Amino acid sequence: MASDDSHPPRDSDDWANPDLCAFCGENLRDGGAGFMEHIETAETCKARFEDWLENISDDMGSTWTG
Ligand SMILES: [Zn+2]
Repeated sequence: MASDDSHPPRDSDDWANPDLCAFCGENLRDGGAGFMEHIETAETCKARFEDWLENISDDMGSTWTG
């Protein structure tokens, strides 16, 4: 059993629930709701998050390479 409290590997499913903001690296109270609260107060991160959403939408629409 792995006893590792550092960040998961890049391809890990754990990234679905991160404990840090992916954009500024700030600690989040909670990876899901905490992130949504964070981008409400961090304009830069909100803008980058929206850009990122557009990017993955574009990727999904063309070729999904994983
Ligand atoms: Zn942030």
